[in-house]
Amino acid sequence: MPLLTVKNLSLGYDGCRVIENLNFSVNEGDYLSIVGENGSGKTTLMKTLLHLQKPISGEISVSDGLKPDEIGYLPQQTQVQKDFPASVREIVLSGCQSSMGLKPFYGKKEKALATKNMELMGISDFKNRCYRELSGGQQQRVLLARALCATKKLLLLDEPVAGLDPVVTQQMYETIKELNDSGITVIMISHDIGAALEYSTHILHIGKDVFFGTKAEYIKSDKGFPASGIELGTGLSQTEPAFREVKSYA
Ligand code: ADP
Repeated sequence: MPLLTVKNLSLGYDGCRVIENLNFSVNEGDYLSIVGENGSGKTTLMKTLLHLQKPISGEISVSDGLKPDEIGYLPQQTQVQKDFPASVREIVLSGCQSSMGLKPFYGKKEKALATKNMELMGISDFKNRCYRELSGGQQQRVLLARALCATKKLLLLDEPVAGLDPVVTQQMYETIKELNDSGITVIMISHDIGAALEYSTHILHIGKDVFFGTKAEYIKSDKGFPASGIELGTGLSQTEPAFREVKSYA
């Protein structure tokens, strides 16, 4: 049984539909990239999967007792969040809050989990530093460690490499892939089709035509890139390198 199943899902705001009749499923261990033009509804879908927003209609079901608060989420960062005046350790620990119920203080279990995830993300050395003093790449590692405190199973990442330089972007993709290889299912919004095709097992392309399938099916599909209506040099970033990669994967 899939970890997450979406059936006939329509979503949007105040009766204004952004996506209609969406169907897809995610199995344990999958790495799903959600791609599509700006404004196509990727973030709205992610918020709906997290139950932060109600669907207009349709169903989202999860298996294996996975609760919405057991999903690790790395949101897109706003400028205000980038300037958040808290220590790295405090931010990572806050990822444990969803599983604490009414308990008002972090206990040994939460502290040990935060320590483990800071080590895993290579950020232990600056755990007492203020988050807002860190580089963009370090901040994303902190947020990834925070998301890992909330989950052992499923990570939802909303453009985790936005604003990072190419070297740090590559490192971030490698880290996410390692987490996926360790058994964590990944659903990631990406503007980078090249990276989506390199790292993911499945692609959900939202737009005029919706496509869901494996990476190989996406490349072969007439609905897939580049037949999706995204022209080279417009819309998605890095479309040109991605186009070259599509050819090399086909
Ligand atoms: P993407 O992540 O693909 O760029 P979004 O999910 O952010 O797209 O937005 C999809 C559509 O929903 C856009 O037309 C956007 O303007 C609209 N939208 C996003 N957030 C809201 C909101 N809080 N209220 C009303 N409309 C919104």
